[in-house]
Amino acid sequence: MVEDTEENRQICRKYCGVCPSFRHNSLEKFQPDTLFCSRGTSPAPSQKEINCYCPACELYTKHSLVIGHFCVKR
Ligand code: SF4
Ligand code: SF4
Repeated sequence: MVEDTEENRQICRKYCGVCPSFRHNSLEKFQPDTLFCSRGTSPAPSQKEINCYCPACELYTKHSLVIGHFCVKR
């Protein structure tokens, strides 16, 4: 389980923050706006999945997460 901490949110922003899916779907406008693997999916309507940068994230590796795209599914 990924802990919801400010430190982890900052790590997430390095990946989700620059992800094409995040930018295309304007996920910064909805809560949760980061750390989707811990805080749950984004409520943004009709999200288009373009790409996912989660596999590059250190939290993804550390917690043995799989698949990614946590902003739309868990
Ligand atoms: S969870 Fe994956 S697809 Fe969604 S914004 Fe983050 S890196 Fe992109
Ligand atoms: S695995 Fe994805 S959603 Fe979770 S912290 Fe890393 S970039 Fe963010």
